[in-house]
Amino acid sequence: MTRMMPETSPISEAVGHEGGERRGLSRRALLLGTSVVAVVAALPAVQAAPAVAKVVKPPLPTWIVGTPGEANHEVIRAATREAAIQFRADPCDFEDDADADPASGEGGPACECCACTDRSGYEATRVAQWDGRPSASITDSDWLDAGFDAICARCGDTATRDDNGCNVAGEAICGGCMKLADWDIVDPEYAAELRAEAESLDPTADTGGRGM
Ligand SMILES: [Zn+2]
Ligand SMILES: [Zn+2]
Repeated sequence: MTRMMPETSPISEAVGHEGGERRGLSRRALLLGTSVVAVVAALPAVQAAPAVAKVVKPPLPTWIVGTPGEANHEVIRAATREAAIQFRADPCDFEDDADADPASGEGGPACECCACTDRSGYEATRVAQWDGRPSASITDSDWLDAGFDAICARCGDTATRDDNGCNVAGEAICGGCMKLADWDIVDPEYAAELRAEAESLDPTADTGGRGM
């Protein structure tokens, strides 16, 4: 799986969505209008104030959304998987078309426009460890840790876990660039195996273990 860098617009959309939720809540509050007011009025003022101050908004869940196997993955903050995919997707090509006809598919559930086709292929992966993290702080090594492709910090090629790419002290390193010293950091056991292997192939080689 691969990805692209831009992630600005989905975030602003995510904020818009949040606003939508809030509107939903206030609508409900409006319906309950009289009873809510009655309860609030019945509470002693001292008790009500701290309860309001304590409300800390939890960060929106973080998702990686894109087409499996394509370099179009983006970071999306949204309440649900469905919402994350919706934010990632472009609007339907027929959405603003007065002639849109859901029955025939145009602008409807079975629509085959580019935007709707892309949307139906998107997958959203939940990345709980990125919740509340500023997007700018999410690095290639984080993408690698999340199971996605990253840019190798040494050669600029693609680093994937499939080709032994690793997060070495916060840097994404592709399998081809991994040196013994790197394996010492991320997997000492495997590093020892590699040393033993190198020595058995060439006993005179100085592998750093017990150099001649
Ligand atoms: Zn469409
Ligand atoms: Zn590399």
